[in-house]
Amino acid sequence: MKESLKKNDLVTLSITDLGSSGEGIGKLDGFTLFVKDALIGDRIQAKTIKVKKSYGYGRLMEILTPSPYRVEARCPQARACGGCQIQPLAYKKQLSYKENKVRELLERVGQVKDYIMEPIIGMEEPWYYRNKAQFPVGQSKEGDIISGFYAGRTHSIVPMDECFIQHPMNRELMACVRQWMKAHNVSPYNETTHTGLVRHIFTRIGKYTGEIMVCLVINGKRIPAADALIDVLKNISGMSSICLNINQEKTNVILGDTVKCLWGKPYITDKIGDVIYQISPLSFFQVNPVQTQKLYGTALEYAGLTGEETVWDLYCGIGTISLFLAQHAKKVCGVEIVPQAIEDARENARLNHIENAEFFVGKAEEVLPEYYDRYAAEHPGARAHADVIVVDPPRKGCDEKLLQCMVQMAPDRIVYVSCDPATLARDLKFLEKNGYKVQKVRCTDMFAHSVHVETVALLVKKQ
Ligand code: SAH
Repeated sequence: MKESLKKNDLVTLSITDLGSSGEGIGKLDGFTLFVKDALIGDRIQAKTIKVKKSYGYGRLMEILTPSPYRVEARCPQARACGGCQIQPLAYKKQLSYKENKVRELLERVGQVKDYIMEPIIGMEEPWYYRNKAQFPVGQSKEGDIISGFYAGRTHSIVPMDECFIQHPMNRELMACVRQWMKAHNVSPYNETTHTGLVRHIFTRIGKYTGEIMVCLVINGKRIPAADALIDVLKNISGMSSICLNINQEKTNVILGDTVKCLWGKPYITDKIGDVIYQISPLSFFQVNPVQTQKLYGTALEYAGLTGEETVWDLYCGIGTISLFLAQHAKKVCGVEIVPQAIEDARENARLNHIENAEFFVGKAEEVLPEYYDRYAAEHPGARAHADVIVVDPPRKGCDEKLLQCMVQMAPDRIVYVSCDPATLARDLKFLEKNGYKVQKVRCTDMFAHSVHVETVALLVKKQ
């Protein structure tokens, strides 16, 4: 079959897996076909649109037998939008898919064996769960100001009133900004010509405090009629912060480096468990506060703290995990690359009267080895030690220099919090080769209807 396959062929196949963007994957005699909008369990007819040696891409032409896991998507825009990749997959099946994906990667790529996979922690309410939104702003063909989302894999903006995974309040916030733009002739940004002012409407809403931040990302240094914008927004219940973010670069990166506060505070506050956090526009904060508490609960349980431990929390952001753990440890040291996030982390420690947490700005793979070397120089014959090291890196995982230094510090336990199971598997393989054993793994679903999954793994030092 594969020898003869060419572009525009019609093929019939069963979808057995999902790719990294949620596209369906089916096999034809060992040839792999990726088909957008096809789901695990579907039997489909597809037309090939690109054929390579061992794989290709197809367009979904017809679902011959729908997957038993197919459900009606709640959002009418689900198919066009790049956000919810697998909304038509029954939520329970989304969960088992994610857990199986992690298991498969750990075992195949990480060669991890004999460990306990605890059941994935799913969401009780997999809708309206996000606390952060960034809606692109543009202009329709008719000249109207629109805000919404980028159509999957493109940068053309599809207007949208309501996003079913965002706080319902976003609808009103977007409408206010659009009305203000229209009334005062404020131009939307045009990506192609790099002209126009308003690029994105960025919002954050505190789940437990109800505090709202609206931050306009602009291709300029100021906005006209700022007072009018403040007037329409400030009376919305919960409004705490109205900001501008300056981004004059020709780039896909949404936020620039500078934030100007127009009204209220330059941050919102929210809680996870008993800990209060201040969150600025530029700081990383988990987007699903309900599930974050469960995720950190797993990290805390795996850390096995008694109150006597020295803990390092690498990639600490605004100190969320650090402060969560500090209440149960002797001392926590957090390391994070974004200086603004470390300012927030220190402020958060003060706010919560936590005095046993210390924070360092820099790359984890530089700060930790430097600390280790300095310690050795100052304490001849001794070496820096940690009882527990927690890491929560971005998708690319940990730098090998960092993993090496962690092994040298010989903590009893390493708790690895990961947002990408492929790099998790790679890093666990390294740690297992260097004196550690993966004992337990547990996934948490932080991003219902997307293919993303968060995983916590516990490694213990081999005797
Ligand atoms: N633990 C935090 C943040 C996790 S996200 C929380 O749960 O909220 C990953 C964080 O790593 C981000 O804040 C990012 O700014 C930071 N980061 C990225 N590369 C880094 C590096 N090389 N060294 C230290 N921090 C880094």
